[in-house]
Amino acid sequence: MLKNQDLQAVLEEINEEVQPLLSEGTVADYIPELAKVKQDKFGIHLLTLDDRSYSVGDCDERFSIQSISKVFMLAMAVGECRQNVYDRVNVEPSGDPFNSLVQLEYEQGIPRNPFINAGALVITDILLSNFPNARNEFIQYVNSLAGLKSINYNNAVAASEKKCGFKNAAMVNLMKSFGNIDNSVEDVLDLYFDFCSVEMSCQELAKAFRVFANHGKGLVDTRRYLTESQYKRIAAIMQTCGFYDEAGEFAFKVGLPGKSGVGGGIAAILPNEYSVVVWSPGLNEKGNSLAGMKALELFTTKTQTSIF
Ligand code: GLU
Repeated sequence: MLKNQDLQAVLEEINEEVQPLLSEGTVADYIPELAKVKQDKFGIHLLTLDDRSYSVGDCDERFSIQSISKVFMLAMAVGECRQNVYDRVNVEPSGDPFNSLVQLEYEQGIPRNPFINAGALVITDILLSNFPNARNEFIQYVNSLAGLKSINYNNAVAASEKKCGFKNAAMVNLMKSFGNIDNSVEDVLDLYFDFCSVEMSCQELAKAFRVFANHGKGLVDTRRYLTESQYKRIAAIMQTCGFYDEAGEFAFKVGLPGKSGVGGGIAAILPNEYSVVVWSPGLNEKGNSLAGMKALELFTTKTQTSIF
C-alpha cells in the first residue's frame, strides 16, 4: 500500500537519478517513423485510485504506444466478444523475442500468449470478425477507458510499419495455414499496424490503465469493462508475459503487472492502488525502455509497493 509520503518528491528524485541513463539504449528504428523520436525524452505519471496524480518530465507528450496496445486489444476481445479467446491463444510466457516464428511452427499456429506479436495478430483477427468497424470501435474503446475523446491512430507510423512488417506478415500467413486466422492476411495486418500506431501520453495511458488497477471497473464512467475473472486473467498475463523475454527480470526488479512497447513506454498497475506509466525511448537489448525499467524499479523500491 502507498505510504503517506511525498510522492511528487519521489518522482523528482527518480527523474534526477535516471538522467545519466537517457543516453544509453537505442531508439527503435526497425519502424522508420519511430526513429524520429528524440532519445532524451523522459516522463512518469502516477495516478491513484483515490484520484491523486503526480507527474514529472515529458508526461504530457504523446508517443507511439506500440505493444502496450495489446492490453487494450485483449481486454476488448475478452470483454466484448462472445467467443473464448483462449481457445486460439495460449497464456504461457514465450521466452523468445516478440516477433519469433520458431515456436509458432512447432506449436501448430497457436501463439504462446496474446502479448507476443503472433498472439496479438490472432486477437486482431478476432476483433475484425466480431465488430463491423473494428478500427473505429477499438479507438472508441481506448478513449472510453481513458475517459477521453482525442486519442487516435498515427497513420504515418502505421504506414511506415506496413512497408517493413515482413515478419508479422510471415506470422499471419503461417497461422492462416494452420487455420488460426479467419480474415484475409492483408486485413489483419493493416488493422494490427493501426492498433500499434495509437499515440498516448503517460498521463493518458495512466488513466486507461487505472481501470485495470480497479479490476476492470471504470472510474470516470461506471462501466464494467471486464468481469472480475476476466480482469484477473489479463493482470496475470501482464505479469508473466508483459515484457518480451524479460518478464522475469521485470517481476524481480519492479514487481508490478504491466506492458511495455518499442515506443519506449511502460504501463504498470498495482491493483487497488495505482497505475503508473513511464516513457523513455532508449531501449535495452530486450526491447524494453532502459531508463523506464530503472525508473519503475526505483519507484517500487522507494515507495515499498509491489504485488508481492
Ligand atoms: N508494431 C510493433 C511490431 O509488431 C509492436 C512491437 C512492440 O511494441 O513490441 O513489431
